[in-house]
Amino acid sequence: MILNYTYRIYPDVQQQESLNQWLDICRVSYNYALRELKDWMHSRKCAIDRCSLESEYIMSADYPFPGYYQQQNNLPKAKKEFPWLKKVPSQVLQTNIRRLHDAWDFFQKRGYGFPRFKKFGQMKSMLFPQFKTNTITGWQIKLPKLGLIPINLHRPIPDGFVVKQVRILKKASGWFAVVAIGSDIEVPEPTTHGHCIGVDVGLLSYCCTSDRFVEQPSKFFRQSYRRLKVLQKRLSKKTKRSANYEKARLKVEGMHNHIAWQRKDYQFKLAHKLCDMADTIFVEDCDFRIMAKGFLGKHTLDAAFGQFRQILKYVGKRRGVFVDEVDHRGTSQTCPNCRSEVRKELKDRYHICHECGYGVDEPVDRDIASAQEICNRGIEKHSTQGLWGSRNWLSSRGAVCVGFPRSL
Ligand SMILES: [Zn+2]
Repeated sequence: MILNYTYRIYPDVQQQESLNQWLDICRVSYNYALRELKDWMHSRKCAIDRCSLESEYIMSADYPFPGYYQQQNNLPKAKKEFPWLKKVPSQVLQTNIRRLHDAWDFFQKRGYGFPRFKKFGQMKSMLFPQFKTNTITGWQIKLPKLGLIPINLHRPIPDGFVVKQVRILKKASGWFAVVAIGSDIEVPEPTTHGHCIGVDVGLLSYCCTSDRFVEQPSKFFRQSYRRLKVLQKRLSKKTKRSANYEKARLKVEGMHNHIAWQRKDYQFKLAHKLCDMADTIFVEDCDFRIMAKGFLGKHTLDAAFGQFRQILKYVGKRRGVFVDEVDHRGTSQTCPNCRSEVRKELKDRYHICHECGYGVDEPVDRDIASAQEICNRGIEKHSTQGLWGSRNWLSSRGAVCVGFPRSL
């Protein structure tokens, strides 16, 4: 089991200077490796019987593809030529190359997200992949070639866990260490059990469950965005590359970080709240990137539903709550009680089914209805008997379903 804990660290001026220097060396080596990759690709782009004289770089046909191991093995040779590479611990440089190839593999698999060159200051983190001894002692963290750095260990590392990796982050408000801790104890994966709920996310209410719990969208972002707008306005008035420009830029960056933290904190609390309510949670497998291209794009991005789903899975795993995704298509157009199709426009806020009368006497919010349908689909996916075996299903047929508790 691997957990990620983030702590603030306080390097002194000298340590900060070397960290900044290392980040830039990482950036340069990343760009060099990416250039090699791109050159190889370009050299193989033109037709086999001709050769472009204008743009394409020519490499010999038997030049191997610069894969991860080749580029990693070239690092010692490069260090002889460029001694400044030696300033960075060698494992940090290696994982940096690894990072490029992870991005490359992602691009190969998904067909988008080609790795880009990083400009000055854009490399903001580096990974220390291995520690022989426990690196955190009370209030200090020991990093290779840097020595001891004070750390704010606001959350103690649980017993039986050892530090596996440390990623150092540079943010506008200071330096952070993301510590990956692992234990050898195998925690069994949670399975479907107990009380089940479906969760539907949306913009009008942040999320709804099939038990009629409604989480209102958070208001505090609006205030933060107002402040961000002021800061961005101030930044735009400054002369570029001046000292005051840099100060204003740091403030804008800090505000962006602040909003991201607010959001993450909110989502973690909400995930814990949902895990309190159920033993099994079903969510939609919706691709929110497509949603973000619509007319509510900004609000969708702000809500960060995809991140929420990941956080919910992480929290669920820690707390023994089973979280799974179900097919999202048509969940809002189906009656959760009799499963017939009920067409709704975006403006129709209530679910009323004329087939079985669900929602006629007592209005049912459309988001709650679709959360109930998500719950149905989850049970169908995992229960061997299907929905017919679960409680309340037959008895509620023809009558308005009350309370909607479903269990496996
Ligand atoms: Zn119905």
